[in-house]
Amino acid sequence: MIKSSLIKKISLLASAMIFSLSISGCRDNYKIKDELPIKNFVEISGQLQDNEIDTGRQGKIGIYDPVDKSLLEEILTDENGNFNLKLEKKPLIEIGTETYIRKVILQARLFDENNNPSSYVRTTILSREDSQNRLIRVVPYDGLKENSITPEQFIEFVKEVNLSMRKWNLNDFQGIEILNKNPLDGAQFTQEQQNNIEKIILDSDNSDFYFQGKPIKIQKDNPSTLESEKHYKSLEGLSEMDMDKNWIIVAPTKREDISGLGRYQLGDDSYKNSGIILLKNINELLVLHEFAHVLLGWHSKVLPPTLTVLYAPWNSEDWEKYGEQYLRNPGFADNKLALMLYEENYMSEEKLENILSMKFLPN
Ligand SMILES: [Zn+2]
Repeated sequence: MIKSSLIKKISLLASAMIFSLSISGCRDNYKIKDELPIKNFVEISGQLQDNEIDTGRQGKIGIYDPVDKSLLEEILTDENGNFNLKLEKKPLIEIGTETYIRKVILQARLFDENNNPSSYVRTTILSREDSQNRLIRVVPYDGLKENSITPEQFIEFVKEVNLSMRKWNLNDFQGIEILNKNPLDGAQFTQEQQNNIEKIILDSDNSDFYFQGKPIKIQKDNPSTLESEKHYKSLEGLSEMDMDKNWIIVAPTKREDISGLGRYQLGDDSYKNSGIILLKNINELLVLHEFAHVLLGWHSKVLPPTLTVLYAPWNSEDWEKYGEQYLRNPGFADNKLALMLYEENYMSEEKLENILSMKFLPN
């Protein structure tokens, strides 16, 4: 064994750095320590995939310095999206008497055979320890042109609907309880209405939109449902929902001021963890619209009601203009947003610009 002080000297001379992850020192950097030998380059590898079909596609990878955003390395993937590079210009930083290896920024984008960009730019931070075999998923431009939307318009739509990218953790999701009676105002669903709501939720055209095709448990209450089988305590104070985690409650309502309502509550981990939907009638678009509030986000004005069930406000002028074109299933924009939001590689409350950017750095 060589003494650590000697290693320090050798390290400095040969610039063969020795490091381990520093937890307290600096969150974005690696402290160089005495225990572990490291190479004088960082190996970065992985596959670039389209987030909608989860398949490797051809594109470009850029690696940037996190402080001055300068380009450190840039490579093209192979036709299946695979990439592998050695980062020689490993960024170092001195803080006090310690030396750190900085984390780097990775950006990625698909390019088509004519070398035109065919996806948004995905931005993510790479640390030395997770720089290999990375799965990088980007949101493709697929379908935008066919639906007469520009990439910029889709970004505007997402900003309106869910700027903070809040979502459910679908792996923890438990189920949907459709009440037969609202305990507050006495409004009731008939069995047929409960069945219709269930049918809309389970409709195969809606399943991707709702729960990414995951099987969903639906509980339809009746007058003999036991208290212990219910997943809510009260519907009072909808903003402070007293209900079981990872359940959505669907209840009838007599409220005069609304035809429907959809709300969710955030958990401590910034994932949504309970939701409520109030419905006055079982109009397909209304059911879809309120579910979209709980699952996807707020209203949209930038895209028309032919592309999203979240279009609002509904008024007589719009009904005249769009009439029968109003959706009976989630629209193109809803599905594209749902696929993006529920991409497992993206976290709840991840920065939108890290997922839907139009340019590589520096921009
Ligand atoms: Zn609404």
